Amino acid sequence: MAEIKEMENSNNFIHNIIDRDLESGKVQSVYTRFPPEPNGYLHIGHAKSICLNFTTAQKYGGKCNLRYDDTNPVKEDVEYVDAIESDVKWLGFSWDKRLWASEYFDRMYECAVALIKKGKAFVCDLNADQIREFRGTLKEPGKESPYRNRSIEENLALFEEMKAGRYADGEKVLRAKIDMASPNINMRDPVIYRIAHTSHHNTGDRWCIYPMYDFAHPIEDAIEGITHSICTLEFEDHRPLYDWVLQELEWPNPPQQIEFARLNLTNTVMSKRYLKALVDDGVVDGWDDPRMPTVAGLRRRGYTPEAIRDFCERIGVAKANSTVEISLLEHCIREDLKAKVESRNVIEDPIKVVITNYPEGQTEECEIENSREVPEKGSRKVTFSRELYIDGADFMEVPAKKYFRLYPGNEVRFKGAYFITCNEVIKNGDGSIRELLCTYDPDTKSGTPGADSRKVKGTIHWVNAEDAVEIEVRNYSYLMIPDEDGNNVLNDSSVEIKKCYAEKSITDAQPGERFQFFRHGYYIADSELTTEDRKVFNRIVDLKSSYKPK
Ligand code: ATP
Ligand code: MG
Repeated sequence: MAEIKEMENSNNFIHNIIDRDLESGKVQSVYTRFPPEPNGYLHIGHAKSICLNFTTAQKYGGKCNLRYDDTNPVKEDVEYVDAIESDVKWLGFSWDKRLWASEYFDRMYECAVALIKKGKAFVCDLNADQIREFRGTLKEPGKESPYRNRSIEENLALFEEMKAGRYADGEKVLRAKIDMASPNINMRDPVIYRIAHTSHHNTGDRWCIYPMYDFAHPIEDAIEGITHSICTLEFEDHRPLYDWVLQELEWPNPPQQIEFARLNLTNTVMSKRYLKALVDDGVVDGWDDPRMPTVAGLRRRGYTPEAIRDFCERIGVAKANSTVEISLLEHCIREDLKAKVESRNVIEDPIKVVITNYPEGQTEECEIENSREVPEKGSRKVTFSRELYIDGADFMEVPAKKYFRLYPGNEVRFKGAYFITCNEVIKNGDGSIRELLCTYDPDTKSGTPGADSRKVKGTIHWVNAEDAVEIEVRNYSYLMIPDEDGNNVLNDSSVEIKKCYAEKSITDAQPGERFQFFRHGYYIADSELTTEDRKVFNRIVDLKSSYKPK
């Protein structure tokens, strides 16, 4: 009961386990690792694992390694290795050691030989199909391999020959000798070494036999002195094998594997294979496309490491699989940015406004606050003159119910400027709006005495037509959307590119600089596409608007 209570008090059951291990003296310090396979870019799910492993080490004054799990001799790519390292650093973590599992191949081979010598491993000539057949099912026990009782000497000689390249891929395997009747299929004499005449990025052609993950991983952890090997839930059934390997190798102070539920997010696919296909098929514009759930994509989209770490903290660490709403991630970035960034006026779907009673050729300055949330951020000056642009969404010729923005006959405040009344709508031949003829009240300039002596219900933003700057904004929606059956499918309109008018100061925006575009959302100047002459902004996240007209 006390134990359950303790678990409930923390959103991280792993820390409870570590507390107990430290208290009982089972471990003296905490050593974790993050073990990516360098076959793709890291995604938000990896970020959860990174945060968990690194912050757990930090919390206990311990250490965390970055270890490339490269025991599979597939083509590794330096691009992935570089990306993984910069992503981990960007998230705010630094590793104790950076290691490659392939550096332990000699040691792993020795371990396999040690098992053979104990009579705990044998060379098997069954092919992959036969092994599957012999393995049995959840309901039926497996059948023992006819090669199971080879002598130790024969096994040693055959394994040596496997290593020497005497056999073709699949001709022989090394299997652990455990229990073909085990209710856990992973324990039914699992394959621990296979033949693959394939070059390895690190060891070249030195090896033509490679260890299987379930055999390699516990040895990697044990060599590094990892105390708590944190992995995702699908490895729970593999834990008995993890423990078996280290026990049979008589490893002192073996690490313990702890499983947690992997992160699933609504509107998001997190399989590296799928993400790679999106890149290879040109569906997205690279691994760092702002719509991708990769760390690189989120970074380019404008997410901050603080927001991602906060998200990982909030979702906690659970033992049961579930799916987290992507709106929580969005909430975290809004929370982080609202205190950090300044606001700018940007007009989408512009409508021209002519202030008919404002002198032609005159320009004046208006003072606009930089942040509603943080008054200390001060204000900036923008220009106001006879011709302005307002947002398409801020005008309705026939207002809907509870619409308080501009419509014929209505008066609103132009933020930081004057009260303005719309008098007439001038249209083009095709019925579209050419301009709105309005008048201003000179006695209502923001910041002057008596400016707000009467009430208006709406405040809208605007830019001065004369010095407005054209920018490109990219408004993203989810890359994946659920179909009728709730399965994620590709959204074929996940980006809307718009030309907008921004206040003049936007010309100073640097690549990677973030703003709140007043009433539209948080945006970042795209790090790849923004130049002195071209300003491209990614919408990081929208604002929660209380009312959205159709
Ligand atoms: P994918 O299935 O996306 O290809 P993976 O698990 O094969 O991912 P690895 O490079 O092996 O990718 O993962 C490195 C670490 O990140 C592993 O410890 C893995 O458990 C963890 N990890 C991967 N995906 C998630 C996720 N969605 N949530 C939490 N941890 C994850
Ligand atoms: Mg993997």
